[in-house]
Amino acid sequence: MSTFKNFVDKVVLITGSSGGIGAQTAVEFARYGAQVVITGRNADNLSEVAKQCAAVSPKGLKPLEVLADVSKDVDCKRLIDSTISAFKRLDILVNNAGKAIFTPITDPSVLDKYGEVMDTNLRSVVYLTHLSVEHLEKTKGNIINISSIMGLKPLNTGFLYCMSKCALDMFTKCLALELGPKGIRVNAINPGAVRTNFLQVVGYTKEQSDGFYNQRGGQYPVGRVGESIDIANAILFLASDEASFVTGVNFVSDGGALHAPS
Ligand code: NDP
Repeated sequence: MSTFKNFVDKVVLITGSSGGIGAQTAVEFARYGAQVVITGRNADNLSEVAKQCAAVSPKGLKPLEVLADVSKDVDCKRLIDSTISAFKRLDILVNNAGKAIFTPITDPSVLDKYGEVMDTNLRSVVYLTHLSVEHLEKTKGNIINISSIMGLKPLNTGFLYCMSKCALDMFTKCLALELGPKGIRVNAINPGAVRTNFLQVVGYTKEQSDGFYNQRGGQYPVGRVGESIDIANAILFLASDEASFVTGVNFVSDGGALHAPS
């Protein structure tokens, strides 16, 4: 076992861990000894991920499952309260839950969609961070925010999503300054396209989603799009003690996509 993958006795809360990148991240933290807290809105998916985590945990630790909608303040509060009540500590917060809406500025419901995207991708992160600081200060813990290369590069009709991730990147940098003196590191990961259900949530069919990832992969310098494990590995590194000198960064994990012609 490489040393950076040692999370024994650490309590790790991963939002959006009922599927995709968050679920894989929960499994990896569990595999390397962490007590994980998993959360999302879909109870069945959450139970499935809980089983996977317990199966790989060296001590068979069962995750704490919290059904929560992070776009609701009361759910965010309950999520942190449940974590502290169960384990009396928090070491690592992974703000991963996110959604995209692609729409033109002329959309009559643009402000409703603005609220939906910002509440999920940004407001939740601000509030969960606010609630976590006192606990992370005690453990000298850290925060990883899951952004996107779309926070660094504009996309036609993608302004809601791109703005949310761009703001998340700046939040990360500002918070690294503010929380560094408390011993808390704050970093962001900016993935390129990763093969998950993300596009199906936006409305793509399975075939359209597969087609997009296959086609896009061919344009990436490494010849493929990402898999959830690629991002989970980056998260575990940034969360580890071996990254103790790293804070306030945008860690781009995108197979070179940002610099490739689209
Ligand atoms: P998925 O759609 O596969 O998973 C999203 C997760 O977030 C699910 O567990 C979902 O759970 C949860 N979630 C969504 N909305 C809410 C909400 N309001 N409250 C609580 N949980 C919520 O997406 P990915 O795994 O691909 O995405 C994870 C993160 O990675 C996102 O922040 C995304 O922006 C980012 N990202 C993804 C890329 C990709 O190509 N896949 C590329 C770049 C960044 P449930 O439905 O149970 O609530």
